[in-house]
Amino acid sequence: MFSQRAQTVTPFLVMEILERAQEIQARGREVIHLEVGEPDFPTPSVVCEAGIRAIREGRTRYTHSLGLLPLREAIAEWYGRHYGVEVTPDRILVTPGTSPALLLVLCLLLDPGDEVLMGDPHYACYPNTVRMAGGRPVTVPAPAERGFQPDPADLAARLTGRTKAILVNSPSNPAGTLLAPEALAAVAELGPLVISDEIYHGLVYAGRARSVLEFTDHAVVINGFSKLFAMTGWRLGYAILPRELVRPIRNLQQNFVISAADFVQWAGLAALREAGAAVQEMVATYDRRRRFLVPRLREMGFGVTVEPTGAFYVLADARPFGSDSLALARTLLEETGVAVTPGIDFGPSAEGHLRFSYANGLDRIREGLDRIHAFLRREGRA
Ligand code: PMP
Repeated sequence: MFSQRAQTVTPFLVMEILERAQEIQARGREVIHLEVGEPDFPTPSVVCEAGIRAIREGRTRYTHSLGLLPLREAIAEWYGRHYGVEVTPDRILVTPGTSPALLLVLCLLLDPGDEVLMGDPHYACYPNTVRMAGGRPVTVPAPAERGFQPDPADLAARLTGRTKAILVNSPSNPAGTLLAPEALAAVAELGPLVISDEIYHGLVYAGRARSVLEFTDHAVVINGFSKLFAMTGWRLGYAILPRELVRPIRNLQQNFVISAADFVQWAGLAALREAGAAVQEMVATYDRRRRFLVPRLREMGFGVTVEPTGAFYVLADARPFGSDSLALARTLLEETGVAVTPGIDFGPSAEGHLRFSYANGLDRIREGLDRIHAFLRREGRA
């Protein structure tokens, strides 16, 4: 049969909702998608053109396993420009998405039973990735009152001799909230290597997301092009590593990945260098949706304790309408044709919550919420 390690990997519940939504759609009923974690915008045309040009120019080979040098130089410059930190291209590993970057980093670090600390709720794939790499995810509650971000003191209390890394994500999936700079600084002081998932950087509507590298060099950044540049399907991401980890992770990449796609890397270079205006427009549009969605949810009776100011998610307390988030999400889908993600997908602290994604048009979001509101009223719940 299959390995014990693979048996520890649980399904991604949002996919269950999405698949059920597709069945409903196949029967001719329209579904409004507020569950997806994927930009609704097309990839900026300067990026597409660069990708097409690269294919025409025959950029269809393997590249250096660390990634194309011009792309790594552009990533290093990006971190210099946005965070004032000095990163050299030889510390960057380019991967086919952020997901493989995380998997490779964890495979590099973990022996069986080694622990990785993270807040609960967290991106649904984190514990599965840790388990697949042989480690043990250890969570600390990060409830709504704390903005769904872990308290460094709670993380400190869970440190053991087996703690190999602390995984942080700011702005976060599922809550869209940021870790305060002082908290990130405190996490950096705890001792273990910090793995900082910075994939939602740039999608910030108030304040500024800080890179872990502003606070410590004893850290790995993982990041990618999927969200900021609306490039989910291109599969492009990277890790920025302490120098001593580069050679060993390169061995993993050479064996298990070889390289990210050549022409996709050229497209990624154009994204970093030329897509500024398109990104600005997307960010402004997300923010308009956010400013509509948050007050509307509160008006309907959902709880939003800490204002989400990043990514494109709101994790709203739905307990006035039901404590079982999966059952509630299923009911809303069947009764109203609106798909949302059950909080339980992201850990026990998010049970009783629903994640609303605003990676959809304002008219769709408005219509979706109107449908939910009408249903809750009909049921006497709102
Ligand atoms: N980290 C977080 C927090 C995410 O939300 C996602 C995508 N949903 C990823 C990593 C993976 O992104 P990708 O592999 O597309 O770069």
